Amino acid sequence: MLLDIRNVKKVYGKGANQTVALKDMNFSIEKGEFVAIMGESGSGKSTLLNIIATFDTPTEGMVMIDGQNVGMLKNKDVAKFRRDTLGFVFQDFNVLHTMSNKDNILMPLVLSNKRPDEMNNCILPLAQKLGIDTLLDKYPHQISGGQQQRIAIARALISNPSILLADEPTGALDSKTSSEIMNLFREINDDEQTILMVTHSSIDAAYAKRVVFIKDGILYHEIYRGNETQSEFQKRISDSLALLSERGE
Ligand code: ADP
Repeated sequence: MLLDIRNVKKVYGKGANQTVALKDMNFSIEKGEFVAIMGESGSGKSTLLNIIATFDTPTEGMVMIDGQNVGMLKNKDVAKFRRDTLGFVFQDFNVLHTMSNKDNILMPLVLSNKRPDEMNNCILPLAQKLGIDTLLDKYPHQISGGQQQRIAIARALISNPSILLADEPTGALDSKTSSEIMNLFREINDDEQTILMVTHSSIDAAYAKRVVFIKDGILYHEIYRGNETQSEFQKRISDSLALLSERGE
């Protein structure tokens, strides 16, 4: 198991101002999976992602990532663990506009003190695979949003993370570019990269192999794609979402 979340609870605030963001979350991911997380606003998706990303800590429960009990990490080791184990792709790309695309991609390796020749060996095959090899010497403002997201994906993958975490990765893109990015995620997953993605879009979620629905801080329902076509799976995701918002109201 690559990721294992056991009885995770997250409570924000104190006393009368308490919010239970995660009630009792149980959830695991095997190596090579591509999982989408869906749920209505306020259901706890960001909280869960932030805890997996080691940006936040649970109030109770255990998070194991790649054999490491994250709660046992010393503060000084958390950043290194995050850098070595996790890759991040965000909605708004989060590329640095003062750096060339190449330097953006190499940043995680610079932080972990890799030698320049090692870095150069890593970047070209990855850039070719992502279709950005001709953009490396340009700056983010000289390329499109979809291309910037490809740079961000390259930056996330350059350190060979155990798990790629993506938060609404197509949220700022048009539908054509979104499907290109999702196809890329699928290709990356075909190469055995484990992916966990939060999304509002049933179109995007249908690219995953499994969709997890969370509601009121628990895992409410999950479905696997199996042998369905993309559009069949998308239909089933939409049906599940409709059910999710109906019940308990
Ligand atoms: P989602 O990402 O599904 O919209 P969140 O994880 O952001 O849901 O939020 C779950 C619940 O926790 C919501 O009720 C939200 O208001 C609350 N919450 C999230 N972050 C904080 C915080 N830092 N302080 C207080 N409450 C929070």
